[in-house]
Amino acid sequence: MPHLSTGDLLRQGIEEKRPICLQAKEYMDSGSLVPDGLMIEIFQERLSMPDCQIGFILDGFPRTLQQAENLDRLLEKLMLPLDCAFYLAVPDNVIIERLSGRLSCSDPKCGAIYQSQTTPPKVSGICDICGSPVQQRPDDKVEVVAERLKAYKRSTEPLIEFYKTRGTLREINGNRNPNEIYADIVKNLPVK
Ligand code: AMP
Repeated sequence: MPHLSTGDLLRQGIEEKRPICLQAKEYMDSGSLVPDGLMIEIFQERLSMPDCQIGFILDGFPRTLQQAENLDRLLEKLMLPLDCAFYLAVPDNVIIERLSGRLSCSDPKCGAIYQSQTTPPKVSGICDICGSPVQQRPDDKVEVVAERLKAYKRSTEPLIEFYKTRGTLREINGNRNPNEIYADIVKNLPVK
């Protein structure tokens, strides 16, 4: 199943100088959410590609109530009901620590992620997998992370209630190591 990360879609589009994604850059750099109209356009375009017809995993979308309502309508049209929404709960101080130490491979085709404290690359500054330099995302600077958290609380947190009401929310304790979180997600996936 394709993994659709709207953040990755935007960063890739900026790299390729796509005008619609370039419009999003200033919002991303300041830690704000990209306006719903732009996001929905970018997202719908990706969703209409053939690989998505069997289903998909959404990562970072929806992030506002308007996006969630739009997604509902779209999935109804596609006759692809949403199976579940995972909420990975992590305390703010842990989020700040994790993101401000995150290092991403500069080659978007590789996309490997490291953490300077817990999982640094074997050779400092170099990706273990493809040998490209690793770098800090501009929006992982601590002051931008604080803005992103504010945007999350204002616009995204209400989605917890939205999906709880629909009975699709699965809350996962995200303050553990990745293997434990992964196992818990797998355990909570609806069986088809
Ligand atoms: P991420 O890689 O998921 O952390 O996203 C990085 C940035 O991209 C966010 O801080 C937003 O500026 C923008 N972004 C990604 N997904 C969305 C979305 N669904 N709605 C609005 N902005 C988004």
